[in-house]
This record gives sequence, C-alpha cells and structure tokens, in this order.
Amino acid sequence: MTTCFYNTLSRKKENFNTIEPGVVRMYTCGPTVYNYAHIGNFRAYLFEDLLRRYLKFKGYRVIQVMNITDIDDKIIRDSQKTGKPILEFTKPYVEAFFQDLDSLGIERAEHYPAATAHIPEMVELVKKLLAKGIAYRTEDGSIYFKVSEFPKYGQLACLNVKEMVRGNRVASDEYEKEEIRDFALWKGWKPEDGDVFWETEIGKGRPGWHIECSAMSSKYLGTHFDVHTGGVDNIFPHHENEIAQSEAASGEKFVNFWLHCEHLLVDGEKMSKSLGNFIFLRQMLEKGVDPTAIRLTLLSTHYRQKLNFTEEKLDMSAKMITRLRDFKKSLNNDLTDGVEQLSTIVTDARQNFESALDDDLNISEALAVIFTLMHEVNNFRRESSLSQADAKQIEQFLATIDDILNIFSSKSESLTEEEKALLNQRTAARKNRDWKESDRLRMLLSEKGIVVEDTRKGAIWKRKLST
Ligand code: AMP
Ligand code: ZN
Repeated sequence: MTTCFYNTLSRKKENFNTIEPGVVRMYTCGPTVYNYAHIGNFRAYLFEDLLRRYLKFKGYRVIQVMNITDIDDKIIRDSQKTGKPILEFTKPYVEAFFQDLDSLGIERAEHYPAATAHIPEMVELVKKLLAKGIAYRTEDGSIYFKVSEFPKYGQLACLNVKEMVRGNRVASDEYEKEEIRDFALWKGWKPEDGDVFWETEIGKGRPGWHIECSAMSSKYLGTHFDVHTGGVDNIFPHHENEIAQSEAASGEKFVNFWLHCEHLLVDGEKMSKSLGNFIFLRQMLEKGVDPTAIRLTLLSTHYRQKLNFTEEKLDMSAKMITRLRDFKKSLNNDLTDGVEQLSTIVTDARQNFESALDDDLNISEALAVIFTLMHEVNNFRRESSLSQADAKQIEQFLATIDDILNIFSSKSESLTEEEKALLNQRTAARKNRDWKESDRLRMLLSEKGIVVEDTRKGAIWKRKLST
C-alpha cells in the first residue's frame, strides 16, 4: 500500500518516498526549555510520535532529530531573574521534558542536540552565508540574512515576498537591518545579555533561533533530508527561514516533505504560554489524570484539524481505553480448540487500519476500524466461542496497533527499557551487598523520576509526579 502525506510545501497530498531507500531522516522542532512544556506542545510531539511509529511499522529505519533550544531571549530573561547561569537554569526543564515524554509514552528520537552544544556548527554556517554575500553585518555586531538574495523566499508559507514591506533601513531599537523581512542569524552582544555570549570568529554574541535548526539538521541528517515537522505556527517565519539559510548555504533542496500539525485550542484560542491559557502535562498528572487518556485525546483528532481541549474529550478517551483494555483482557475467556473463524474479519481490519493511516495518518478512520472489529468480534461471541487461533490472531493485531498507538498499557505503571535495566542492576548490586553501587543506581533512577523503596518482598518503584 502506498503511503501519502500532505506536504505543506506543495499544499497537496503526495506519495511518500525517501532519498535513501528504507531510511527516513526526519527533523522535529523541539522545546524551548525556559519552562515546562504544555499539552499544546505535546499535541505536536504526539503527532510526531505517531508519524515516527507508523513509518517504523511500514518498515523504515527512522533517524529522528529533535533540537533542544536552550538559548534564546526568554531563557536569558528568566535565568537572569533567578540569578542562575543558563545551563543551570535550563537543566531541570530539560529533565522534566524527558520525563513528560515518558509519561505520554512518546518514543525517544535518535538525537536531541542542544543549541548551546552546537555553536561552532552555527558559526560555520553563518560564515558560509557571509562569504556568499547572502548575509551582512550591522553596527551592533549582529548578522542578518539578506532575503533579497534568496529569490525562492516565501515558498513554504506561500508568501508574496514582494508584498512584504520593503522599508529601507529599518530604524528601531531592536533592529538595524536593511529590510524588515531580513532576519537575524547572529545577535551581537548587548550589555543586557550579561555573561551570556560566545566569543567566536563572527564576533561576540549568540545565535538567532532559526540558525540552530539549519546547523543541527545538516550535522545529523545531511544537507538534504526527507521529513521536517512542527506545529503550524512554525511554518512562518521559522521554517521559511530554515529553508532560506540551508538552501542558500548548500545550493541543494533542504527537505522533501514538510508536515505540520494544527493547534490545540482552549475555548477556541491557541493554547500558548503567551496567552496564559496553557496546562502543563504535569499539572494534569498531579490531579490524577491517566496519561494514556491525554495521549489518546491529543492523538485522536486528525493532526491537520484544530482540536479544542475539553474535559469531556478526556473522559471519552478514558472510556475508550477502558473498553479496549477490557476487550483485550476478555479475549482469552472460554476459548475452544476449534479452527479460525474470524480470519477474514481480522485480515480486513488489518488492511483497513493500514490504509487509513496510509492516507495522511487518518487516525479517526483507523480508530473506527478498531471499534468495528471489536463490535464484530463481540457479536460473534454472543452466538459462539472464540477459538484459541482466533484469539491469537486478534491479539496479534492489537499488538500491531499498539506498537503504533501505544494505548493499551498504562504508562504510569510501566518502565522504559533503560529504567528496567537500571532497576535490575540495582537488584543485582544489593544481592552482592554492594551498597555504594545500589545507592548510586537509586540516585540515578531518582534523577529519572523513579522512586525506589526496598521492602521485604524486594524493591518497589513509583513515578514522581513532579521534579
Ligand atoms: P515552542 O516551545 O513554543 O517552540 O513549541 C514547541 C512545539 O510545539 C512546536 O512544534 C510548536 O509548533 C508546537 N506548539 C506550540 N503550541 C501548540 C499548540 N497550542 N498546539 C499544537 N502545537 C503547538
Ligand atoms: Zn526548528
């Protein structure tokens, strides 16, 4: 079956293919770590999780990169308020982000590069743009991208660039750039930045936001790769600027498929930190909301449709999950030794589920397939019993579904492979009466948000709800 995705670049659904057969190279804009991520952000990360898991199901090896923006104006502002150096200020938010990913059962990307660890790569890219005459310096030590030197500017956001105001020199406190549409690659140091700066070949200062994604994507995925994702608010200016910087520097096409997810809304408005209408994931978990219900709520509306977040939707998801889990548990009740009788139903469900997701991740259709299957199996069981062979086939289908949707097991009741390994190592250390090692591992688990208690029956663990 052919997979197609809606490509923001062409404004069309296109058949999916990759540059290297069998491998998807994918870049995802990640969090700015000056606070916790809210559930709107997690709608984007969950859409990307679904995409990643589905591509793996289709047999691709996925190499995904998600950047961590750990330097920007807000980080400087807020770290100064606390009097902490930026890395000390951002560290707990980075850790919290990974805990939140685990709570929602989001599979880890292959790389999480931090912006502050890639300044030399960004400097190299800026140098290249300066050498090509596509970037210029201003008196304050900043460096701007000269949009007029990149005629394809506006292709992703479908902008009519000529209509963008072409004021001559723009005089404002913030900018000394030549044209209003030019954007900062490098921000020259200002006294307000305090001790936040890098002394580099292109001057003393810090990178702009867009350049980090161009530099880090090319480092880990090459200058031309398959998929780039983000929320729709990233299309302009962030992704438009990424294309401009990357293509101007390399002379190649930057990305083949651009996929963007629509916003999570609250009372019809985008959930965002600036509007103050956000909910942190951890606030919901502290109230006892099942993370899997949050996961399903955020996943179950097609990613290109706006989703208004309500308690009712959360309740509906929780009920759906209970039905699915009960159905799975009940499969082994009263089985017979007979032959398979539901092969066609299960095969059809498999095909329909796959073709739904092949169609630009049509999740509503895919969920409908699962409920139709449940309905048909339950109808069958009213008249006769399932055979072991039937039950096994259905279970296998549910396992396939769960590799993609990850909603059958409760996240708060399960550990990641890495956490399991640490817990096992600790048990082994205690057996060898190596208390130092056992304490070290307890600390390590605690840093990952797992509290371990030793009881007479052995170690038990639980997840901390907040850091
Ligand atoms: P930020 O930390 O603001 O850069 O956002 C991180 C990711 O979350 C980006 O891909 C944004 O597009 C996405 N995002 C932010 N707010 C929302 C929202 N209300 N709904 C869906 N995605 C969002
Ligand atoms: Zn980005």
